[in-house]
Amino acid sequence: MFDYAPAPESRAVVDIRSSYGLFIGGEFVDPAQGRSFKTISPATEEVLAEVAEASEADVDRAVAAARRAYTRVWSKMSGRERGKYLFRIARILQERSRELAVLESIDNGKPIRESRDVDVPLAAAHFFYYAGWADKLGHAGFGDDPQPLGVAGQVIPWNFPLMMLAWKIAPALATGNTVVLKPAETTPLTALLFAEICQQADLPPGVVNIVTGAGDTGRAVVAHPDVDKVAFTGSTEVGRSIAKTVAGTEKRVTLELGGKAANIVFDDAPVDQAVEGIVNGIFFNQGHVCCAGSRLLVQESIAEELLERLKRRMATLRVGDPLDKNTDVGAINSAEQLAKIRELADVGETELAGGPGERWSPPCDLPGTGFWFPPTVFTGVTQAHRIAREEIFGPVLSVLTFRTPAEAVEKANNSPFGLSAGIWTDKGSRILWVANQLRAGVVWANTFNKFDPTSPFGGYKESGYGREGGRHGLEGYIR
Ligand code: NAD
Repeated sequence: MFDYAPAPESRAVVDIRSSYGLFIGGEFVDPAQGRSFKTISPATEEVLAEVAEASEADVDRAVAAARRAYTRVWSKMSGRERGKYLFRIARILQERSRELAVLESIDNGKPIRESRDVDVPLAAAHFFYYAGWADKLGHAGFGDDPQPLGVAGQVIPWNFPLMMLAWKIAPALATGNTVVLKPAETTPLTALLFAEICQQADLPPGVVNIVTGAGDTGRAVVAHPDVDKVAFTGSTEVGRSIAKTVAGTEKRVTLELGGKAANIVFDDAPVDQAVEGIVNGIFFNQGHVCCAGSRLLVQESIAEELLERLKRRMATLRVGDPLDKNTDVGAINSAEQLAKIRELADVGETELAGGPGERWSPPCDLPGTGFWFPPTVFTGVTQAHRIAREEIFGPVLSVLTFRTPAEAVEKANNSPFGLSAGIWTDKGSRILWVANQLRAGVVWANTFNKFDPTSPFGGYKESGYGREGGRHGLEGYIR
């Protein structure tokens, strides 16, 4: 498609062990039943490591270690002391950022530019931010003497493995809780490197425990009777089953689930900026983003011009090796996710048949091994189409048009989800008017996919409940 010189990041900066145990009570231990699973590189399908699979007995051990650490050490420590540990972890995350970024890109498939510039710095930023809160909780409107909940069971997805870990662990620790965290089965490696970082930071044993495994391990964590707080990020389907599991118990719950965000472009929008925002909105992290701008709503009068520009920009995206610093779109995280994306894209094509819309991708030389899907846009989509309603969680954009601001709002809100939305317009008053009517937890104006530890994040409707980030993120961990 075009020539450029590859600029590969060195894989040698990270030492991947051939096998990993569970991180319980401050050390790596063998799983009780001796079971393990393989984690592979989605870009090459190469086996990276054999990872322990935690059974119920292992989860029990991890929760017991977390409870001991909570009762004997962590809940007794002053906020200032806890804060020092969080600061220490944040600094080590910065010091080891290159190693973490390379490992994240290898295990997840995301471009190194993103893991280096977004995932790892934001993970460190969350620890810095919540470290600052640890000694200020008593004077922040949480009541005179806010108390931690106890042991938090946290289950996270594969799209931002280290960043999701930071979103969960940093506020939990700052408020005096201890943690049992289960990373996703396709991306366990940065969580295990984080376990080493906890050792390096001399974090008291048992304050953070990492149990690896699949859905059964996650189920054992959330259902454990000695877990006081459940924090889950993942699909709406699993979130629903977790809500049922914890119903009728004393456990506190936050759920961060799926999305189908509308990115709304008005006819007075700064078009170049909007095209960048649309591309970033849906192709960042291969579209494996809960708040991805997967529905483009464009005002009819500029639709043709905008789509032409968008296609030209899409044709410049480089798809390929996640470790190449030039890469814009990396590998799809797993064969299973690739199959889901292909299936929904095929449904979309069938839905458009006979109508004015089309399925379009730029010519792409996709690698022969690994899991890949080209940046794709569907035009002429209507609200009745499945590709306008269901979360595809891949680099696939559905384009709908509208005539008036009221119609844009109606279409944007016509979704079972309500996580995020974007507005592109020159008029400040319109931004405020539209944002006030959108049923979405996060609304970006003339930008997209901006994250900051000081800002709360979370959804409405089927996107879940509770907020992470900012002061709000602390509320889920204190009584
Ligand atoms: P998933 O729900 O399949 O898995 C998420 C995690 O839950 C994994 O660790 C998995 O092993 C575990 N799990 C599976 N079944 C379980 C069960 N019955 N009980 C407990 N744990 C269980 O989701 P995924 O495919 O890993 O991630 C993609 C989904 O996550 C998308 O829907 C995306 O929108 C959502 N997501 C949401 C946010 C947000 O902040 N709202 C952020 C990232 C991802």
